[in-house]
Amino acid sequence: MKDVISRIEDFLIPFYSRTPIAIVRGHEHWVYDDHGSKYLDLTSGIGVTGFGHSNPRINMALRKQLDMISHTSNLFIIPGQAELAEKITEAAFPGKVFFCNSGAEANETAIKIARIYGNRKNQSKSRILSLSGSFHGRTIAAISMTGQEKYRRGFEPLLTGMEFVRFNDISDIERKMGNDVCAIFLEAVQGEGGINPLSGGFVKKVKELSKKFDSLIIFDEVQTGLGRTGKKFGYQNLDIEPDLITMAKALGNGFPIGAVLAANKVADGMEAGMHASTFGGNFLACAAGIAVMNELTEELLDKINELSKYFLMKLESIRNKYPGIIKENRLVGLMIGIELYSVFPVKDALKGLLDNGILAMKAGENVLRLLPPFTIGRKEIDYFCEKLTSLMETYSLTSKY
Ligand code: PLP
Repeated sequence: MKDVISRIEDFLIPFYSRTPIAIVRGHEHWVYDDHGSKYLDLTSGIGVTGFGHSNPRINMALRKQLDMISHTSNLFIIPGQAELAEKITEAAFPGKVFFCNSGAEANETAIKIARIYGNRKNQSKSRILSLSGSFHGRTIAAISMTGQEKYRRGFEPLLTGMEFVRFNDISDIERKMGNDVCAIFLEAVQGEGGINPLSGGFVKKVKELSKKFDSLIIFDEVQTGLGRTGKKFGYQNLDIEPDLITMAKALGNGFPIGAVLAANKVADGMEAGMHASTFGGNFLACAAGIAVMNELTEELLDKINELSKYFLMKLESIRNKYPGIIKENRLVGLMIGIELYSVFPVKDALKGLLDNGILAMKAGENVLRLLPPFTIGRKEIDYFCEKLTSLMETYSLTSKY
């Protein structure tokens, strides 16, 4: 039998450029490949397994549910949906929840809700604003409002009625807001865009203009939600109350689930038949989601914030040592971006880290992105920083920068 890597090439549509490692097992922040090699996972499967690989309480909840029933349909009552939705509202704001299976689907749902909301006010209230540098998923509607050309190229014609506002640009949002805007989509911290936090001044302007024009404020919390930024949701770091939030990724800690929370003033206008999902909020997804929400305690958030401060302190001392390589460190909770000057391509940093048994990711132009599981401690941060320092040292000795 051919080996797994060449079978992947033979049988899968080549949408991904994959690191040739087959990870078969994980525990907390450690993963192991099919040859038994161990890696420190600072990716959490792109911000998914924040509560640790093979989290015993989440696994137990899934196992218990699997032995009861896994799926009926949304034609019947699924009790876990009520429990999970209540927990989500308690963690965010009062409202009603819709369950789906992924981040892009959650955003699709929010777009549909926003369009219905606008349409009911007046038929031309359909324009949706989002930001340059944003990322909202890979469906046609989601790429239509993703503010990075590389994700849209070749898929035209896209959904119309979408417009981009320059990131954190107050005068641009003033120019683009109007009575015909039904919603603005924001990420509290742009993830794929390069770990870029929204500014307080921009958020204040969004609040003011959304109120003036009766436009919905929608936070895409797919990457920032569920503890990642040191709060239950990313918007809670800012002085703003959204009308809708979308979430996915960490909500199932690896079990696929997405959700939209809409404030009552928005949710109450929706009707049966407007939207649906076969798998959305099935028994297993809800069991995983409830177990995740039980993990999301104030103590955990304190730990995330404490580790964030420690990480920043360590990264800043590396930047002070290598100011010609590291441009900026950006951390919000355990959402971490290390922006490198172009003299040190991030792909070289990733390769160097991988050679030292560390999994990390890229974001934006040349940003080393880390989304570690919340199970890490100072020891793992020290280990990463030690390896990063030796990479920088080797690089600074061998390059002409
Ligand atoms: N929104 C944001 C902010 C994301 O980071 C992502 C994925 O990275 C998505 C939406 C899309 O989520 P999914 O891949 O689950 O569709």
